Parts: sequence; C-alpha cells; structure tokens
Amino acid sequence: MTPAESRRRYKCAVRAWYEAYKANSKCRDCGCTDSDKLQFHHRNGANKGINVARMVAESHSVATILREMRKCTILCEDCHAKRHGLSDACELRTPRKEEASSDG
Ligand SMILES: [Zn+2]
Repeated sequence: MTPAESRRRYKCAVRAWYEAYKANSKCRDCGCTDSDKLQFHHRNGANKGINVARMVAESHSVATILREMRKCTILCEDCHAKRHGLSDACELRTPRKEEASSDG
C-alpha cells in the first residue's frame, strides 16, 4: 500500500466512524435524529476554534476528535443556529449602517 493510499483509507475510516457516531446521536434540544443535520456545538465559547466537522475532513486522529466532541453538545443545524442567536448574539450582530437622511 502506498502512503497516499494508506492515508486515503484512514480518511475513509475516520469519516465512517464520524457518520456512525452521528447516526447514534440526536439533537439535545429537539430530539432530531437526522444525522445529516447534526452538528457539534461547543458548550464553552472559550474553547471554540476547532470545528469537529473540519477535524474529520482533515483526518485528525479519532482520539483528538473525540476529545473535542466531549466539549460539545450535539444539536441539529436549526437548534444550533438558535443557540448562537441567543448566546453569541454579539458575535453575529453586524453593525447597522446609519441611514443618512439626505432630505430635509
Ligand atoms: Zn434540534
């Protein structure tokens, strides 16, 4: 097996493990079991920075990914968006442009 082939196989294995993990999980808020929608939400904003899905895409070791997953709550994409709307409102808030009133 060539190193490239070996790496590709490892990548497939990590992906399969990740998909299986999600298939056995559900959204903590609404109970949604659609694994395509499930995401990992970091409970503590300070730990944020490493995205679990990205770690899988970059084929980090399962142990490293698991450690990151333990800091997370599993949420579907809808509930994930809601959580961020509530707790990270200041992050998502975009400065509103003041409308210049030209007429007067
Ligand atoms: Zn949900």
